[in-house]
Amino acid sequence: MGKTESFKKKIEKDKRIKACDRKRRYCDQPTALAFADHQMKLGSKKLTTYRCKYCSGWHIAKEANPRFLRREAKVYEQGN
Ligand SMILES: [Zn+2]
Repeated sequence: MGKTESFKKKIEKDKRIKACDRKRRYCDQPTALAFADHQMKLGSKKLTTYRCKYCSGWHIAKEANPRFLRREAKVYEQGN
């Protein structure tokens, strides 16, 4: 049981590192949005902001909509 617990903790820690620790933190959404906007103007892919459950700050992530990605993949297949 102890082993499972530490495994869960490790996964949780990895998630936190990816979703929070590695990212730049913004104190509020308007600040995060302004930065995302700026990046998109510079040619970045569509970005989205989210409230972080770990640090209660805001982070920016590339927008990933699975449904949209699937549809895009299908169109691509048909195009071939
Ligand atoms: Zn965070």
